[in-house]
Parts: sequence; structure tokens; C-alpha cells
Amino acid sequence: MSKPHAPPALSWALDGREVDLLHYVFARPDIKQLRGHPEKVLAAIDDYHHQFNKLMNVGLSKGAFITKIIAERKPSVMIELGGYVGYSAILFGDAIKKNGGKQYLSIEKNPEMAAVATQLVDLAGLRDVVRVVVGSSNEVLTELISEKKEIDSVELIFMDHWQDLYLHDLWLLEDLKVLNPGVSLLLADNVIMPGAPKYLEWVHATPQEKKHIVNNSDIGSLSPNPSFVYETAVSEFDTDFGRDGVAVTKIIGKQDV
Ligand code: CA
Repeated sequence: MSKPHAPPALSWALDGREVDLLHYVFARPDIKQLRGHPEKVLAAIDDYHHQFNKLMNVGLSKGAFITKIIAERKPSVMIELGGYVGYSAILFGDAIKKNGGKQYLSIEKNPEMAAVATQLVDLAGLRDVVRVVVGSSNEVLTELISEKKEIDSVELIFMDHWQDLYLHDLWLLEDLKVLNPGVSLLLADNVIMPGAPKYLEWVHATPQEKKHIVNNSDIGSLSPNPSFVYETAVSEFDTDFGRDGVAVTKIIGKQDV
């Protein structure tokens, strides 16, 4: 087995470790046994994470928590914002498939990450379910919802890209009228570390409080809809990087403000 060229640990990610991961996985002596087996591809990514360079993957405890939500709700389509190297796309895409779903849509801004993810998804045998789309989350969501009319109702969305974007992307979904009471469920990762205070403030607020927030925020060209009634619980987890949380938000109804 050729020794993977582990890059020096410079900045967190975008230092070549993700492409190095791809070289590592495809140089493994058991590569043929990985083909078509999502759990083995995930284990290979975990091996790299433990032996060479840490990767910002969803991790075991959070992964199991979200996989359980998929099994309970059985969405036809699940959307992910921020796909990174495809670990969550393989884990959750496989869960979508096993629960009778059609598609796991992974939106990733960095084309290099998307290329890595696409190869690993292909290796896992999940190309029929997982679709990796390159682009910024707001642009891709707008295109798929408003222009292509591919999504008329969000069933399950996993926000895992950049915490400062969570609220703007939620405002976009509110504006595009794809959030429906009893149907849509919002998951937001890393709400404790590094944290997403503005997003949490919004999903915890009443419609009246949200109207106040809108009147006192720079919303740019966005049109937030304060009338949604949300119910949010944050589940906490011990991860490789410390204590963290996933916010689970149900859409309960709508209320005039
Ligand atoms: Ca994350």
C-alpha cells in the first residue's frame, strides 16, 4: 500500500487533506471490498480521520441521532447545505435509500470538496440517490425551488455549511414558501460550537418577537416571514472536537402578526 501523503496541518481544512483523503481511500488494499458498501467507505474515511488528519465530519453520535430522525420521518427528499467530503451524504443518503426515499441533495460551494464527495459517493454505490450540486446554498436553493420547480415543499433539511448563513437561508426558505407545518423539519448542526446565535434566536422566537427582530435587522434583499410558529429543541453531543449541539426545529403552524 502506498503511503498517503499527509499534508502538514496548516489551517483547518482547505489545506489539501480532503484530496489526500481521496488518494488514501483509493490506494487502500481493500478498495475492491469498499465498492458498493456505504458503511465500509465511511469506516475508511474514519480511518483517515484517526490516523492522518482530522476531518470535520458529522461524527458517530450526531450521525446516529440524525439517521434515527430519517428512519422515523422517511422523507422522500433530504437537503444538505454544506456537503464537505461527502461523509454525511453517504451516511444519510444510505438511510434515505433504506427508508424508501428518492434523493439526498447535497449542496456544496467548494468544487474541490464536491469532487471529492462525488467520488466517495460513487464508491459507496449511492450515485442513484445522492446528488452533489456545486454552488452557494442560497443560489442553488433559489434555482431548484423558484426556477426549476424541483422542490415545492421541504421535508428535511440539514444545515451544516457556515453558521452565519443558517438564518439567511432559513429566511430564504420562508420567503420561497416551501416550509409547511407538520411536513418540514429543520436540522442545524454546530449550534453550540462554534454556535449560531442569530439562527437560534429566530427559531426560538414567537411571531411577535420575530417581527421585532426583522424591524431591527439588516435583512438586505431577503423577505423573512415572522408568521411561522416554530418549536425548537437543541440536542447536545460529545464530539471529537468538544461539546456540540444540533437544533431540531418543527414548524407548528402560522400566526398573523
Ligand atoms: Ca458540522
